[in-house]
Amino acid sequence: MNENGEVFSGGEIAVDGDRIIHVGPAGSTTGDFVAEKTTGGDKMVALPGFVNCHTHASMTLLRSYADDLPLMKWLQEMIWPFEDNMTSDDNYWGAMLCCVEMIMSGTTTFADMYMHMDRIAESVEKSGLRAVLSRGMIGIAPNGPQALEESKEFIKNYNGTAEGRIKCMFGPHAPYTCPPEFVQQAMEYAKELNVGIHIHLAETRGEFTDITEQYGKTPTQLMDSIGLFELPVLAAHCVHLDDKDIEILSTKKVGIAHNPESNMKLASGIAPVQKLIDAGAVVGLGTDGASSNNNLDMLEELRSASFLQKVSTEDATALPASAALGMATREGARVLGMEKEVGMLKPGYKADIILIDMDKPHLYPLHNPASHVAYAASSADIDTTIVNGQILMENRRLLTVDVDEICAKAQECADRLVKEAAGK
Ligand SMILES: [Zn+2]
Repeated sequence: MNENGEVFSGGEIAVDGDRIIHVGPAGSTTGDFVAEKTTGGDKMVALPGFVNCHTHASMTLLRSYADDLPLMKWLQEMIWPFEDNMTSDDNYWGAMLCCVEMIMSGTTTFADMYMHMDRIAESVEKSGLRAVLSRGMIGIAPNGPQALEESKEFIKNYNGTAEGRIKCMFGPHAPYTCPPEFVQQAMEYAKELNVGIHIHLAETRGEFTDITEQYGKTPTQLMDSIGLFELPVLAAHCVHLDDKDIEILSTKKVGIAHNPESNMKLASGIAPVQKLIDAGAVVGLGTDGASSNNNLDMLEELRSASFLQKVSTEDATALPASAALGMATREGARVLGMEKEVGMLKPGYKADIILIDMDKPHLYPLHNPASHVAYAASSADIDTTIVNGQILMENRRLLTVDVDEICAKAQECADRLVKEAAGK
């Protein structure tokens, strides 16, 4: 199935090294190509792997630790005290758990913002996934300047590593935790190292009103006034926007990560996604961290995105299945600046491919494969996940990671952290 939801039945995809070299009907690969290995089968649908544009990988350790709380209370009373005790090993095992979940739910690329990023890079390297990594920086914290320097070092050491699967960005957390001068310093460094900026933007109504009161500008207009959008930017959330904000984000082609399930769970609001798309904005999808979702399942995310636009606009034609699928793949790649090599099944593109097993009762009869994937399939239907030409999961069997070990280690880390957060 291609990005427009068009289906080639009995198709084949030829991969050489890390790239797709041919996509077409069965038997159409020509020349000297001889497959060393074949995978797939009848009743499988091949799609580009999902691109999760915004998450915090190691927050899998906080899954279901703090639910049903407002954002600021959730952050200040539960999440930050837990995170204060997280060691480098905790971050590694949390990220490995994230990688397992992503591979099993068809995500092949993710954008992460967190801490101990060298360990997140290690999880990406080992698991075989593709990722855009940024160290989260709180400009108003005492260690803000140090975080900037550490980010710089991290980016110098890791950008382009793991056979090119790891890319890096600077990660000033948000306008309400990073004053303009701090964001500007990050921008200077980003220009110097030729990388982008990953930031949370206009997530809650509180952020919108506080920043507007303090600076006389909306969060989006404040960031625009300091020139942020002249750089490649990945802006997570963009829920609270006025018409001028939408125009700025669209004309400056800011990469927007829409996180519908996190926004619903934390009661942040509904991002005006259909309006943004109509204005020409670049909008992909993210799950946000597992603590505010509570899983990293992109099929759920794209379905929620679609249904949320329909119900909020009272228009059943809003964000149709093929557009939601596009957001989870091709548009996600644009958000991360990877659209020339990721997000499509096309010769020359990276071989990041998933196979979905359509031979399931809940996927019969097959009227419309795009609708089935967007509205009826679940992540358990994903049979095979391939990244950079390497098979990471085949017939639901993981080939690069030890799932049992990772689950046990993650539980161990989480149990200890809960005790420490409770001061025991
Ligand atoms: Zn986030």
